[in-house]
Amino acid sequence: MNKLKIISLTAALFLATASSVSAQDLIARQAPVDRKLKAIDSLVLKRQIEKEAAATAVADIYPSWNNDYAHVYGGVPLPENFRIDLRGFSMPTTNRVVTSRYGYRSRWRRNHKGLDIDVNVGDTIYAAFDGKVRVVRYERGGYGKYVVIRHPNGLETFYGHMSAWLVEPNQEVKSGQPIGLGGNTGRSTGSHLHFETRVLSKAINPELLFDFPNQDVTADYYVFNPTTPEPKSSSVSAEGKAQPKEGGEGASPYYKVRKGDSLYKIAKRHGITVEKLCRLNGLSKRTILRPGLVLRCS
Ligand SMILES: [Zn+2]
Repeated sequence: MNKLKIISLTAALFLATASSVSAQDLIARQAPVDRKLKAIDSLVLKRQIEKEAAATAVADIYPSWNNDYAHVYGGVPLPENFRIDLRGFSMPTTNRVVTSRYGYRSRWRRNHKGLDIDVNVGDTIYAAFDGKVRVVRYERGGYGKYVVIRHPNGLETFYGHMSAWLVEPNQEVKSGQPIGLGGNTGRSTGSHLHFETRVLSKAINPELLFDFPNQDVTADYYVFNPTTPEPKSSSVSAEGKAQPKEGGEGASPYYKVRKGDSLYKIAKRHGITVEKLCRLNGLSKRTILRPGLVLRCS
């Protein structure tokens, strides 16, 4: 009950603080929250938001602990505006090449719930954050040798197709600790790491959190919202548009704003109109884009 009150208080403060309620507030649905904080020069509000986040950003959103199955939280209600702290991250692999993105793969007619990164057999795979190992199993027709780790920030991370495990169930691990070796086990052609990020079994595109080419996270925080629609199955746009492709797979439906970008430039690059780009992200055409902001482009 208290939480609800605080949230509506924050909403009211937002309206009062922002001189014009611009689209900037609206894009916060998918945008890393630290950008939002920077955009508002009210210390009071900042403290209020941080207090709120601290109240919900604990991993006790999970009702149970299960060593046997990877996906057991499908029916559990998902938290709204759940802030995931990405500080203290480690890259799961030092390899930078993404070979298959998150989302619908027309070639395989299936939804790819993770991100594939090119690794060699034997390459060390590292825990993305501090946490506790929940699952260590072998699944011949799927993940192969895989590990699931639960983290205090609320995320669970999955590491698939490994050649060896270096951890045991219920083991506490530190961010950056070796947890396995790269491989080609399970449903895999060619050695790679299949990396998933989930909240209560609900997959999040790992590219919204981790930037493998730059070996970094996208921001200090990521706000998870279960109501944000998943990108539509983009079988057509993934194959047909002019978007450059890494590793020969389809284009990501998301784009991270760089310095010098404009709505027009981004829309053109993704083969959509400025109007559509604005609609997808709840922006107005006058919005000034901040570098680092993640936009949906299809
Ligand atoms: Zn994969």
